[in-house]
Amino acid sequence: MNRSKFLISTKDLDQEVVYEFHDLAPEELDIKCGRSITVGNINATVSLQKSAIGIGVDFRVVFHGEYICMRCLIGFADNYDSALHLDYVEGDDPYLHIENVELNPHDADRVYYRGPLIDLSLGMREAVLLALPITPVCKDECRGLCPECGTNWNLKSCKCKVDKAGIFTPQSKTAKK
Ligand SMILES: [Zn+2]
Ligand SMILES: [Zn+2]
Repeated sequence: MNRSKFLISTKDLDQEVVYEFHDLAPEELDIKCGRSITVGNINATVSLQKSAIGIGVDFRVVFHGEYICMRCLIGFADNYDSALHLDYVEGDDPYLHIENVELNPHDADRVYYRGPLIDLSLGMREAVLLALPITPVCKDECRGLCPECGTNWNLKSCKCKVDKAGIFTPQSKTAKK
């Protein structure tokens, strides 16, 4: 995969610079879709600005995703819009060879790099992954499938002797289409 379009020179960065990336395939950002989540093509806006410690980079990614509810196994689609700020700091990662360090809150937002090129795909990838649900469910109160007969409990109940109340709290809302 040719990543060169994501490598941006930080030389002569005197004022804010904005890059737009359209229709990126998830593979270009090294995003592998699993069985339960599929990510569509990604549009990204990345703005770079000099900061006191290096280069502040704001990522915004917009994409369409499809996922399968892990409880009722029905497919759903959603639009995602996610933003992330990273500080690119030139030099070696001070924690690279230290084990069990206690990180300061800001350390998670820092990327150490060897100039003058920085790789914007890192932040775009991170912003996409942040937006994706870890446990995809169609709605919080999804009642799932009966483990005995497979009936979708969001749509109707069944006569199996399963402690339904113990699994999910029944709600009166109808299933999201
Ligand atoms: Zn569901
Ligand atoms: Zn049943």
